[in-house]
Amino acid sequence: MFKKSYFQNSIIYYYYCRHNSHSSSKHSKTFYKLYSTLSSTSSSLSSSNINFSEIERKWINKWKILKNHKKKISQQQKNDVNNNEKEKFYVLAMFPYPSGILHMGHVRVYTLSDTIARFRKMHGYDVIHPMGWDAFGLPAENAAMERNIHPADWTISNISLMKAQMEKILADFDWDREVTTCQPEYYKWTQYLFLQMYKANMAYQKEALVNWDPIDQTVLANEQVDSEGCSWRSGAKVERRKLKQWFFRIKDYAKDLLNDLDTLDKWPDRVKQMQRFWIGKSEGAEFDFVVNSGNYPFTAKIFTSRPDTIFGVQYLAISADHPLVSKDFLPQDKYSQVFEFANQIKQQQKVLDMNDENFWKGINTGMFATHPFTGLPIPLYIASYVISDYGTGAVMGVPAHDKRDWEFFNRNFHDNDDNNNNINIKRVVRPAKKQNKDDKDVKDVKDDDNKIFTSFGILTENCGKYAGLTSKEAMKKIVHDAHKSGYGRWSIQYRLRDWLISRQRYWGAPIPMIHCSNCDAVPVPESELPVLLPTDVSFTGRNGSPLKQAHDWINCKCPKCQGPAQRDTDTMDTFVDSSWYFMRYTDPKNNLLPFDKEKASELIPVDMYIGGVEHAILHLLYSRFFTKFMFKQGMYLPRNNNQNNNKNNVNNVQGQDEPFKQLVTQGMVHGKTFKDPITKRFLKPEEVDLTNPNNPIHISSGLTSLVSYEKMSKSKYNGVDPETTINKFGADATRLHILSKAPVSEVLEWEESSIVGIQRWILRVKRLVENIVENNHHLINNDNNSNNNLPTSYDQNFVCDLNLMSNEEKNTYRIINNTIKEVTTVFESSFSFNTAISSLIKLTNHLTNINIKNTSSVYEYGLRSLVKMIAPMAPSIGEEFWETLNNHKQQQQSSETGNEIKINTIFDESWPKVDEKAFSVEEVTCAVQIDGKMRFTIKLPTTMLHDNLLIESLIKKSKNNEKWFIDNNGNEKKIKKVIHVGGGKAVNFVFEK
Ligand SMILES: [Zn+2]
Repeated sequence: MFKKSYFQNSIIYYYYCRHNSHSSSKHSKTFYKLYSTLSSTSSSLSSSNINFSEIERKWINKWKILKNHKKKISQQQKNDVNNNEKEKFYVLAMFPYPSGILHMGHVRVYTLSDTIARFRKMHGYDVIHPMGWDAFGLPAENAAMERNIHPADWTISNISLMKAQMEKILADFDWDREVTTCQPEYYKWTQYLFLQMYKANMAYQKEALVNWDPIDQTVLANEQVDSEGCSWRSGAKVERRKLKQWFFRIKDYAKDLLNDLDTLDKWPDRVKQMQRFWIGKSEGAEFDFVVNSGNYPFTAKIFTSRPDTIFGVQYLAISADHPLVSKDFLPQDKYSQVFEFANQIKQQQKVLDMNDENFWKGINTGMFATHPFTGLPIPLYIASYVISDYGTGAVMGVPAHDKRDWEFFNRNFHDNDDNNNNINIKRVVRPAKKQNKDDKDVKDVKDDDNKIFTSFGILTENCGKYAGLTSKEAMKKIVHDAHKSGYGRWSIQYRLRDWLISRQRYWGAPIPMIHCSNCDAVPVPESELPVLLPTDVSFTGRNGSPLKQAHDWINCKCPKCQGPAQRDTDTMDTFVDSSWYFMRYTDPKNNLLPFDKEKASELIPVDMYIGGVEHAILHLLYSRFFTKFMFKQGMYLPRNNNQNNNKNNVNNVQGQDEPFKQLVTQGMVHGKTFKDPITKRFLKPEEVDLTNPNNPIHISSGLTSLVSYEKMSKSKYNGVDPETTINKFGADATRLHILSKAPVSEVLEWEESSIVGIQRWILRVKRLVENIVENNHHLINNDNNSNNNLPTSYDQNFVCDLNLMSNEEKNTYRIINNTIKEVTTVFESSFSFNTAISSLIKLTNHLTNINIKNTSSVYEYGLRSLVKMIAPMAPSIGEEFWETLNNHKQQQQSSETGNEIKINTIFDESWPKVDEKAFSVEEVTCAVQIDGKMRFTIKLPTTMLHDNLLIESLIKKSKNNEKWFIDNNGNEKKIKKVIHVGGGKAVNFVFEK
């Protein structure tokens, strides 16, 4: 029986090696199929089993004891200076919103961060792996309205629920560092940071047209409105309203936020690209157009990325709230008409796009600006498409060379031209012939006066002395000349706008400002922080924020003149809370400052940040902005600069004020979704017969239902509850499953049935572990062993003499080291855990199939390394196997140390090191016997030694040796059996007589 399954294993294993293509999930699927076939035919599997939940409970308890024990020790040693000289490693998973339920996406991200944290610990780092709660926000307030409980109570009870769930997934967080953003101990410092922004003139209040979410009844930042003009949270079509709001000057940091992206070489390109696009740098020039309409001249500055088209300007377009739209400037006869139009635009309740007729609305103001080059009068229009807070609120209209201008001109000009003149479109650039193929600036297009031409080309005779120049040459000359004459200059514009942080909601950090009729806006003195949220408010959902009704709270004294004043009733965007929480983790209990400078300087930047790609712009951009601000304020020094603790001595290294050195964005978890094949309606689980998993039947119609993987949602009935999965399969297997199913950044298609394959693998490792304890005497008594290779301690790295090894040992040693190499690379840099798990399964197969199981220390080293490498991904199983392996040793120790509690944890062990020597062995000499007689030797590559069939075919085909396998008639001799000795040391072919 053993022989049979052994044989099957080698074939399957060989197949697997041949078809192993790295990191594709397709490959892992094929592999699972193979693996399950292999397992189900193996006989002894059913005899043994694992009680996953029992092991998990056992280790959760042991870890608790261990943590308390370590805490005591570290408190005792507090006075020892520098007792921890290990290098720090700060690994961070994005903290969750405490909704009360951990979903599969959470399980995926925390499994990742926990695996990396545990690996780094074993690799000798002092690891910081904190967790907390992004606890302010609308759901709590909505729950309060629905269920009549205070948002604080709802939030706190959800936190305790989720904490328990996090324990169940075996995540080892530093709960000592826990932060909760809705607690006064935290938001006091969010308010403090607001005041620092205010003091630095980085926070300001202005009346502006803002995005209004009619469902959530609050304003939104631009980042929180999607490309369709809908709210990121409620999905409602966003409206425009004019309100007085607080802003952070993130735009002042646009240049650094953009340029420093180049220093983030461990960030996904996709995220950097999204930020670049959002910041939206455009290079061009600024020109001054003087308007001589009122009592005094007004200079309208306009920005263009195409200064070569300046001679094509046929109108200027200004925003509805441009300073020129006033009685001081508008011609009297036009005033009422223009003002009415401007008001109409300002009150527009919708964010417009090009498909909207209203987008193209405009009106001739009757004013003219003087063209700086030609001196000609240029009519001034108010255009709906010009927004005041982008650029200068005024743009030049060049209909011949810009699509939007072309549209606007054609729709508005003829109707609005007072004299009804047919105004021709003025072309200033014509297509140029390409000089050579590489000329990217020039497009080969036919010249057509009636068509818009937006590419670079040659300037026409309309451009005076610049005619005949290429666009590029002309830009340089035109801007140069304008600069000399004082009416133009090179300029850079950003799409990024200032961050609107006021929210008309209750459950957030109150903005620490007081409004006084004498002193205007006055900051709350730092000594009076926190401005606590009043608790005696009612959540009716009507009349705006509950804070507006909290009159006792609103009415206060002005800190400046002591007169009667009112508190600001808005709270801060919750993205402000999460923009600095990773700094608070470095010093979570500080009650004098947000964090101690020295403590933050030891840990920031975060070494590795893990979270969803959906935060590519909002949270990650805001956090970068805050960190840069805090750095500028001297609140911390970057870690690399620690030697230079003198503030004046800080080197100006680009990107040193970035918060996250490395960013890993994990893909979503998609659920298996069933649809009615005819109506395409989503089917509930009870509507589908899964007797044959490959053919799910829609019960009522009897037809095969459609199957797809989609984002988990209630309406699709495809959600998977992590707790149910963990109860069924165990947390270790669930974690391994998550890591093995897909590369980190890709979508994970949740397929429960394949967890069984992982369980079977764990079971096989368990059998190997038990087997070595039952049969291997090395563990019990080192002295009794004749093999000189045996390491004296298994807790140290295995050192051995290759010369004393048999071929099979050498080969095994090479495979072990190769696995260590592959797996370490995955844990350190590639994070393709699916390939790491494949490597570990391969090693398991090898260790299962070799002959030196009960005799060699190399084998034991391999098994111990295997268990160590599994442990960060499957921590309680890792601990359990390690304990079994050390059982005897531990018993000895505990009898020596008496009653003292001692728990050996695998996470105190060091990660196996790669021994490069192992790879020096490339070939071994194999003695070939024919019917028991030694006939010849052959060199075998070590890479083949695991595979007996391969060895045999190589021997049979080896040069000059074919004769041994051919009979006198030239036919292949029939082999009765083949005996392999020592994995390539010798092979004996026995032929039928
Ligand atoms: Zn005052």
